[in-house]
Formats: sequence, C-alpha cells, structure tokens
Amino acid sequence: MQASVHFSIMGRKPHVVVVPYPAQGHVAPLMKLAYNLADHGVKVTFVNTESTHVKVMSAMPEKFKEESPISLVSVPVELDGTDAKEFVESAPSFMPGHLQNLIENINELNNDDQVTHIIADITAGWALEAAKKMDIKPAAFVPFGVANLALVLHNQMLIEAGIIDVDGIQMKDERICLSKKIPAWNKNELLWSFPGNPDTEKFMFQHFVRKIAENVKICNWLLANSFYELEPSACNLIPNILPIGPLFASDHLGTYAGNFWAEDSTSLSWLDQQPPRSVIYAAFGSTFVCDQQQFNELALGLEMVGQPFLWVVRSDFTNGMVVEFPDGFTKRVEKYGKIVKWAPQEKALAHPSTACFFSHCGWNSTMEGLSKGMPFLCWPYFTDQFHNRSYICETWKVGLRLIPDDNGIVTRHEIKTKLEKLLSDKDIEANSLKLKEMARKSTSEGGSSFSNFISFVERIKQ
Ligand code: UDP
Repeated sequence: MQASVHFSIMGRKPHVVVVPYPAQGHVAPLMKLAYNLADHGVKVTFVNTESTHVKVMSAMPEKFKEESPISLVSVPVELDGTDAKEFVESAPSFMPGHLQNLIENINELNNDDQVTHIIADITAGWALEAAKKMDIKPAAFVPFGVANLALVLHNQMLIEAGIIDVDGIQMKDERICLSKKIPAWNKNELLWSFPGNPDTEKFMFQHFVRKIAENVKICNWLLANSFYELEPSACNLIPNILPIGPLFASDHLGTYAGNFWAEDSTSLSWLDQQPPRSVIYAAFGSTFVCDQQQFNELALGLEMVGQPFLWVVRSDFTNGMVVEFPDGFTKRVEKYGKIVKWAPQEKALAHPSTACFFSHCGWNSTMEGLSKGMPFLCWPYFTDQFHNRSYICETWKVGLRLIPDDNGIVTRHEIKTKLEKLLSDKDIEANSLKLKEMARKSTSEGGSSFSNFISFVERIKQ
C-alpha cells in the first residue's frame, strides 16, 4: 500500500500475531504485509521458528533491526522449510503449544496489548486452529496466485471426476480447465508438482493441498498477494478472497523483507553504471537448483548474449555442490556481468538500467517483476511456477518460455535466442508497462487492493 495515505480509525489498537510457513517465499510477503499493517496503526508481532529467526536476523542490517516497526520474535524450534517433510509432519504436534505460550506471555505482560488476531500462512493450518482454540480471530494469507488456490479448492471435485486420484496424481493425459480465462493446467504442472519426484508430490497433495482446503473454512479472512484485475476469473471463483497485492516493503526498510541471505548492495551501484534498460536480471528464488551441465549452459547462454547481466547465484545453486563456473567464464564476462549471492531484488527490478527478468516464476518474483514492468524469460522449476509461467506467457503476454532439448537441457543457444527475442519484442514491452500501471492503480488510493486492505484494517480495528 502506498504510505502517503494513512487512515486513522477510532477504537483500540489491534495486536496481530503473524505466523509464516518457515521458507523464504512465505516469510517475505508476510513480512511485507506486517509492515503495511504497522504503517496503518496495527501492532504486529512476527513469529518465526528459531532457525528461521536466526537467518532473518543475521541477514538484516543493524539499522533495520533498530528501526523495525514490528516486533520480531521466535519460538524454540530448530526446524524450518529446509526439510519441508519433517517440519510439515511434526509442526502440528508442537507449534500450537509454542504459539499459545507466546500469546499467553504477551497477554499477561500488558493488558492494553492483548493479541486480537492471528494472520497465518494458509499452509500453516495449525496456527489457524490454535487461534480458534484461543478465541482469537484468524486470517489466512495466500502466498501464491488465486488461480492456484481455486485449483486446490476444487481438489475433491477433480478426484470425483476421475481427473486426479486421491494422491493428486493425474489419471488422464489432459489439461485441467477451471475457466476459459484462466490458463489450463498442463499435466505435471500442478501446484503440487515436483517433476521426477512422485513421493514428494503425494506428500504435498496430502499435507498441503488437502489441508489448505480445510484451512480456508476456518479463517475469518482470506488475504492474497495478488490483485483483482490481474486474476479476475480466479477471484470470481472464490467470493470471499481479499486480494491485497502486490505487497511492497520498499516504503519501510529499503527492499528489506525477511531475507534469509544478506543483500549484496554492490548490485545497485553496479546497475547505476549500466546504460538505461540494458541489463538482464537473472534470479531464480531461494530453492531452484540445477546440475553442473545445466549450470554451464546457463552461464554460457548469458555470456553469448553479450549484454550486461546481473545474475544471482546462491551458494547452494548447483545441487549443494560448490558452484563452479565454466573455464574462463568469470574473466571473459567481467566487463559486463555481475554475479552476486543475493540481490536487493525489488530495487534491482525497479532500477532504470534493468531491461528484463530471467526468472523461475516464483509467485513473489512474478508479482515483483510485473509491478516493475518487466518482460520475463520463464524457467519454472516446480509447483506453482509452471502455472505462473502460463499466466505470464499466455494470459498477460509479458514473457517467453524456454524449451528444453530432447535430453531435458535448456541449452545456451535456447537461452541466447529467447533473451534476444524478448529484448526486441515491442508487444511484450508494451504489455509489461500496462501491467505495471494496473498494479500501481490497484495499490493506490481508490484501487481494488488498496480498498481491500483498508477494509481489512477497519474490520480488525472494530
Ligand atoms: N529474492 C531476493 N534476492 C534475490 C533473489 C530473490 O530478495 O537475489 C527474493 C525475491 O524478491 C522474492 C523471494 O526472494 O521475494 C523469492 O520468492 P519467490 O516466490 O519468487 O521464489 P521462491 O524462493 O519461493 O522459490
């Protein structure tokens, strides 16, 4: 929401406890929401597991810790989304108890500071259940697109129609269509799809998808990091959805919002030295990994374009092996390539030197890229990223897809060809700028997301 407009609403100050699922792509948008709430006079306590809290605090510059408008706390749990299976299976047995202790402690400390609401990630159903038990009003937050939530809410219908089985595995080789205006889901491109890993898919379906559909029923509000004009058909399928995105943190702490890695600020000084709209920003979120052969193709593809690039290479990018660039690569590209371990992404995308976003299409990256008017080169890795690509390329027409060769490798030639095509495509450029404007309007006073957010704040202040 734009910080310039501030609503003063009479009544007591609500105190919201915000509970993310402990992974980068979940903590970041919820923290942005937390800052926006604080900005509108809501007291916020943000609860991470201890191991996530340590990552967030060590990546956070000192001055941000001192100036934080929200209270950042942890519960004593040494688990996080790094081992999703272990966390998801065991969290319901200990997280509600920790949450309850925390809230009781807060409530005992100060009578004026009682916890009034819990906002939890839609995948953290145990927090919503705990809220109900404690008679605290729960709101669920959806960190992925509304279309994918609609797919989840149709899961029983898909099973009954024989389209998927009880483990979420597709029975028929056909696309799943919920509405003519929402891109159909291709086989193996569902929210719970993990290519080549059927056990994880089943696990995801049983523990996330089925559970999300239950969680929706117990929350008083259903907030989503999307905006109505972006996904009107999907929003119409879920009448109680409150899209409040794209969420930004920029007004508060630079771009800082719950990073697990420290941002490399030299990315921005490097961007300052590049010509306007010349830089390929290549970043693939927090979990994308590839093998050495694919990594080499990616590096050489970027090199072959010959245009400036800013490439985020996390230390665990190559399947946990030490990252090794192709022979002589770093020397050859030193004049036009900048490689960092973690970038201030929102700022990099908003920078006038940035021309396009080479992305894995995580939902946060998608929202950040489109709200900055970026054309996308799409390289999804798993889960909702496939459908986000379909939205980007087929519906919004702001990007291109990469096609792997017969061995499943995205070659350097494919990368070079598609990047060049993307950079010279005037229609995509025009569509990207239109989408940017739509996103801006939606979060400005009078816009749909702005109004939804304000009405949510008013309700929790009553
Ligand atoms: N991000 C960042 N710097 C980077 C790469 C990513 O700040 O160098 C942030 C990005 O802005 C986004 C989040 O990490 O908010 C990644 O979320 P996304 O949903 O795109 O992907 P995931 O990490 O969940 O796969």
